[in-house]
Amino acid sequence: RDPGAQQTPQRAQQASLAGIAPPRRVSPVAAGWVGRFPATSGGTQQRTGVPITTKTPSGQESAPSPSAFAAFGLGPDLMAGIDAAGYDEPRPIQIGTIPSVLKGRDVLGLAQTGTGKTAAFALPIIQRLQGRNRGGRVGLPRALILAPTRELALQIHAQIEVLGRFTKVSSTTVFGGVGAPAQVRALRKGPDIIVACPGRLLDLMGSGDVRVDGIEVLVLDEADHMLDMGFLPDIRRILARLPERRQ
Ligand code: AMP
Repeated sequence: RDPGAQQTPQRAQQASLAGIAPPRRVSPVAAGWVGRFPATSGGTQQRTGVPITTKTPSGQESAPSPSAFAAFGLGPDLMAGIDAAGYDEPRPIQIGTIPSVLKGRDVLGLAQTGTGKTAAFALPIIQRLQGRNRGGRVGLPRALILAPTRELALQIHAQIEVLGRFTKVSSTTVFGGVGAPAQVRALRKGPDIIVACPGRLLDLMGSGDVRVDGIEVLVLDEADHMLDMGFLPDIRRILARLPERRQ
């Protein structure tokens, strides 16, 4: 999300209506961590004037300090994927969000493209899905990532493939503008993660080709763009079909 963008009351209301706001059963502050993140902890911070801060559930602000990926406690297969991707140090958004996501908290992050936001949600999702404590329903997708455009969906999927290449976690994409049969065939293989644009996902849910009743983790990537592009009704329809208990 562009940190310079105006948060209009209308947009805030739309976000809340979409269920993008933290679940109603918990207070907004307790529901998750909220952070605004530049690309790196040095130059960009100075250029944008945006401080690297993370709001804790108690409302205190803390400045995350750089640490190696090992500090997250990710599994060896995932660490090998991070290595293969050529990541040396976690980016601010990763330092600020991954520990919370790994604890199962809901997180709202504000960051521009290029800051490392995809890996910030992809890494904890892959970690969760490859864990022994699967608890999920066999054969059903367990994580759903919604994105506004096919290009973004493909980029997210590509990054998951790179980071998860040494794990057994699998991902597939669902978006319109191309034929559905290839996507349906990929879905029949039982991917763990679906990266989807809302419209085609709804079509395939309607035809019974996608089941979302096993989804444990939902990501709304570029949620503000999805709202601007008029996806709110579609997102609401999808949310209504997801299990209520999810991250
Ligand atoms: P994103 O903000 O998700 O679009 O990521 C922008 C680019 O940064 C992608 O090409 C990622 O592969 C890359 N990236 C993400 N995290 C790191 C990291 N910790 N170190 C180096 N590159 C990264």
